Amino acid sequence: TIAIRRPALGSAATAFMAKKHQMLIDGKWVDARSGETFSVEDPATNEIIAHVPAGDKADIDLAVAAARRAFETGPWSRISPKDRQRLVWSLGDLLERHADELAELEALDNGKPVTNARRDDVQGSIDMFRYMAGWATRLNGEQIQVSTPGNWHVYSLREPVGVVGQIIPWNFPLMMAAWKLAPALAAGCTIVLKPAEQTPLSALRVGELVTEAGFPDGVLNIVTGFGETAGAALSLHPDVDKVAFTGSTEVGKIIVRAAAGNLKRVSLELGGKSPAIVFPDADLDLAVAGTASAIFYNQGQCCTAGSRLFAHKSVYDRIVEGVAAEAGKLKLGHGLDPSVTLGPLVSQEQHTRVTGFLDSGRQEGAEIVTGGKVHGNQGYFVEPTVLAQTNRTMRVVREEIFGPVVCVQSFDDDDLDAVARFANDTEYGLSSSVWTRNLKVAHTMARKIRAGTVCINTHNYGDPAWPFGGYKQSGWGREMGKEVMEHYTETKAVAARL
Ligand code: NAD
Repeated sequence: TIAIRRPALGSAATAFMAKKHQMLIDGKWVDARSGETFSVEDPATNEIIAHVPAGDKADIDLAVAAARRAFETGPWSRISPKDRQRLVWSLGDLLERHADELAELEALDNGKPVTNARRDDVQGSIDMFRYMAGWATRLNGEQIQVSTPGNWHVYSLREPVGVVGQIIPWNFPLMMAAWKLAPALAAGCTIVLKPAEQTPLSALRVGELVTEAGFPDGVLNIVTGFGETAGAALSLHPDVDKVAFTGSTEVGKIIVRAAAGNLKRVSLELGGKSPAIVFPDADLDLAVAGTASAIFYNQGQCCTAGSRLFAHKSVYDRIVEGVAAEAGKLKLGHGLDPSVTLGPLVSQEQHTRVTGFLDSGRQEGAEIVTGGKVHGNQGYFVEPTVLAQTNRTMRVVREEIFGPVVCVQSFDDDDLDAVARFANDTEYGLSSSVWTRNLKVAHTMARKIRAGTVCINTHNYGDPAWPFGGYKQSGWGREMGKEVMEHYTETKAVAARL
């Protein structure tokens, strides 16, 4: 095996990496109270690239107190909607100005291809701030018509929910930060953000940009640290009004229990095992490329990944061969190499998890059409893998693998209810895709699938205006669109006797 070399970073990313990394609390960059740090790794080379503070309960307490002060008495509590809009918009501008740097940090820290990071993660984050900026000036209540005898003026107000704890994962570190920060800031909340321990770097850079944009101290606080310490303290904290979490279903349930202490509001965006369903009349070239991208994009580390591929019997062979051929075209390597299209998994833990699923698929009798092995002996690379002849009882079909591994099943039913039963045969309900030229099939399936999003002739779709979230054990609530503003506001009803 040829050793993987890390391509050089640009000057801006180099300068950021050379700095001492600290946490943002009350407008100041600080160490953890304990003085402890933890190391951050390049998942393609296993080199240590940074040390960041290991924040825990003591730091969360300080950050929550700062966020509470900023919310109750700071200049943020008196800011006009127009100025909130301007600040949130300007964050989009700042991200755009530093787009290449952010894309490099993302590729270095997470392992993802830098070309994708620039086009999708960074651009998606810019777009999110710009879209959400508009909501700052549109958070209206309404006048309510009542039948109470007498003369009444009854109306509602929309108010920010307060101090928000946000806990995010490592698969889209920057974009998950943007999805959380943009609506909360637009609504007028104050925030304690805890990035994933695997990928804290881009969030810290965003913290610098938030300060540069002119947000008052304490509006955004960032505590780096582990889930069981910093994350748990944030979700348990009695002075946090709401917690927004993206990550595993398992931890989502822990968050719900922790939140019960003070009944803080909870929104959850959790795992998935999303179906991609190819009907016989589909544009097969499009379906092959689309369903391959549905699983291999971001090394399969997408909560929406099309990990259960259903192909009609008449097109099954074509789809299996086609997706395997697409896997063969992927170029594995260091994410910072602009020609690379498949990077490493994020961590040793994920590598062990995904290779464990490959073993399990093999033992349960799945046919390995392509891939199935670790790639190289450095970094956390796994070959893009197509498992055919899979069935509903296999672990690889039931559980979220979170790697570049697709399980293909065939169906020969023309009854859409039967096809929908295959699709819905999962405890998850996050996303799905339907590949067909038949409008009736497409939109009928859209209604029958029990998932928060349905994509027709595409997969992994996203737009800041598109409400996103899960049915069943894929979560609570919706992010993006106007729906997300529900999570970051409370409705107050006012009744006045005239
Ligand atoms: P995780 O759920 O443990 O981590 C997500 C975030 O939650 C991180 O910031 C982590 O520090 C924090 N966290 C962990 N334990 C916590 C606790 N007890 N209290 C509060 N916060 C806590 O995810 P993971 O272990 O990194 O990955 C495991 C699996 O989760 C993956 O294989 C994948 O199936 C799934 N996952 C899903 C998504 C998604 O976007 N839905 C993202 C990442 C991982």
